[in-house]
Amino acid sequence: MKYVSEFRDPALVERGLEALRQTLTRPWVLMEICGGQTHAIVRSGLDQMLPPEIELVHGPGCPVCVTPLEQIDKALAIASRPGVIFTSYGDMLRVPGSGQDLFNVRAAGGDVRVVYSPLDAVRLAEQNPDREVVFFAIGFETTAPANAMSVLQAHAKGLKNFSVLVSHVRVPPAMRAILGSPTNRVQGFLAAGHVCAVMGYWEYPTIAETYRVPIVVTGFEPLDIVQGILATVRQLERGEHKVGNAYARAVTEGGNRPAQAMIRRVFREVDRKWRGIGTIPMSGWALADEFQAFDAEERFQVEDIAPQESPLCIAGQILQGMKKPFDCSAFGGECTPEHPLGATMVSAEGACAAYYRYGR
Ligand code: SF4
Repeated sequence: MKYVSEFRDPALVERGLEALRQTLTRPWVLMEICGGQTHAIVRSGLDQMLPPEIELVHGPGCPVCVTPLEQIDKALAIASRPGVIFTSYGDMLRVPGSGQDLFNVRAAGGDVRVVYSPLDAVRLAEQNPDREVVFFAIGFETTAPANAMSVLQAHAKGLKNFSVLVSHVRVPPAMRAILGSPTNRVQGFLAAGHVCAVMGYWEYPTIAETYRVPIVVTGFEPLDIVQGILATVRQLERGEHKVGNAYARAVTEGGNRPAQAMIRRVFREVDRKWRGIGTIPMSGWALADEFQAFDAEERFQVEDIAPQESPLCIAGQILQGMKKPFDCSAFGGECTPEHPLGATMVSAEGACAAYYRYGR
């Protein structure tokens, strides 16, 4: 397929790796923000083909992984209520809360349904006026436009039985938190191409300048990733810290302005807790005042839940680039994809799941 097959061409990837070898004079630590990129790196074996001077650490850009346990527990509490149709993307059903997951709720008689779009949940609300339909609105900037659209549609249709359990997070505040940490090791960032397709990269020059790190917008195929690493390393070797775009076939600096306008209308920026990491100031979105009536947390009064994380799980340190999955004592033993203790083992984009699946 045009725009995909050539970015998987082994000869072109090898040419990029050779250029990288010629450029390197010393070790560098880079972080790929996005879990999709982590998965692509491990699946394609790039982590084993890169020159030893390059250490890739894996960032927090996996929506399932960073959704706080409290939100999962709130989802479980709402989904267990009689009369509720609880809808979600499929990958959230296996994420364990403090005691169970959404599959358990469904097995116990709860009406939990997988949808492919929040607009499907709006349709369900229209078709079931005597039921409460709730959509689990998680994710980064990539899912926010469709989730915002669902609220606008429900608002326009006057639906009173539709609500959203919101747990949206934003990439730029997480980058600032990682770079500002005293334990930070990251010297350059591969920014997430799909996030930038929506949001552009106009927010990044300030981050690059403040923390003096290069940031390169990077895609998801092996050649995209090698090109992103090469562009980052070239800057590092020259002592530069600019924003680059190695995914120009999908990303512009301004991004998708109508989508951004829709997000700004429906959501407002709030402090948000990231699973395993903690609260990052102004790193998330909640519903704007105009759309509070669609807030499932208020409608179902589930604010006060105190969850219990597994004491073995070090996912928070993995998501900040401080540790790797094999540093966890539970990896592959107590914690496997069949019996995950933490969200990074549940999600296909989670670093622990990728290392387990591809035998790292
Ligand atoms: S292997 Fe499991 S317990 Fe360990 S960090 Fe990963 S998800 Fe957490």
